[in-house]
Amino acid sequence: MSVWDQVVGQDQVVATLRAAVDASRAATDEAAARAMTHAWLITGPPGSGRSVAARAFAAALQCTDPDEPGCGRCQACTTALAGTHADVALVGTEKVVFSIDEIRPLVSQAQRSPAQGHWRVMLMEDADRMVERTSNVLLKAIEEPPPRTVWLLCAPSPEDVLTTIRSRCRAVHLRVPDPRAVADLLVRRDGVDPQVALTAARAAQSHVGLARRLARDPEARERRRRLLAVPTTIRGVGDAVLAAAQLIDLSATDAKAATEERDAAEKAALLRTLGAEAGARLPPALRGQVKQLEEDQKRRATRAQRDVLDRAMVDLLSLYRDVLVVQLGADVELVNADAAEQVRRLAADSTPEQTVRRMDAVGVARERLAGNVAPLLAMEAMMIALRPQA
Ligand SMILES: [Zn+2]
Repeated sequence: MSVWDQVVGQDQVVATLRAAVDASRAATDEAAARAMTHAWLITGPPGSGRSVAARAFAAALQCTDPDEPGCGRCQACTTALAGTHADVALVGTEKVVFSIDEIRPLVSQAQRSPAQGHWRVMLMEDADRMVERTSNVLLKAIEEPPPRTVWLLCAPSPEDVLTTIRSRCRAVHLRVPDPRAVADLLVRRDGVDPQVALTAARAAQSHVGLARRLARDPEARERRRRLLAVPTTIRGVGDAVLAAAQLIDLSATDAKAATEERDAAEKAALLRTLGAEAGARLPPALRGQVKQLEEDQKRRATRAQRDVLDRAMVDLLSLYRDVLVVQLGADVELVNADAAEQVRRLAADSTPEQTVRRMDAVGVARERLAGNVAPLLAMEAMMIALRPQA
């Protein structure tokens, strides 16, 4: 499977990136440096596959197959995709914003020639999570890159990145892929049953990672089913407050499932590096490092829970979108075909105007969450707005 096969439903972007890879194969260093764009800004809504596209691009740039760059089989391709290629730096942050101390080492790393590959690729996810002062440090590195360095910045939209950075990048924009294209990938790559794949792709609104989880993990499907059932169970303020607390619990469980395994592996790896046995008493000098890791993991868990909650808001929005589709008799497919019964019930019990107001309430809750309002408060206000109106 070529690395480009993972970049679902983005023919135009793939054509642009492939052309750049071809140009980058010029015979001499000078010619390659001239032909190559040294800073790219890859944008697209969540789930459109920004980081997948960036990784595929990085792999194709490093690929050692002369006839089919991005073959997906060679060592360079597989390690670049797995994130272990020596010359592909994957940069992300678990914090709300990148700190300046996270960016500085990257700038000096970017100055070095590639160790073994064709290019030194600096792949930065969440390039929107940067304050201006930090962006300025990065800007210097992007302005004057060494001939064999390429920066790939990912962000939801060009407007999320400072103008000074944006103006120095070549922009490519990803669309939300067609659910059928996502389902097709799940069938081909993960061996998922076609009908299950299509339902999952629609429910995940074409978010490839989520669709895969829904298709393969019955517990994830069950959590989603419970979430979508919430609006039909609220009858008054008391139910609403209860539902808010349940939603917070549900998101904590979901976030925990997503981070637990990784946390344990990280801690074991750190203890190994420190030469300590798991469970043994650590010398005081090393305790600080373990404590630091635990604090980082706690911060990450908080962010993961917020991400899960935001995803739940998107799911609720899709539910009310379906309600509106039924209320208006529109001839388009339901996102939540698997919750058609709830959709019909909500549609019968309310007016289109009420549905729109409920969607607004969910939108406000999302903004509050992003603005660091205590999650429980934001959820309570939202659930109260979702209760049946006379
Ligand atoms: Zn290859």
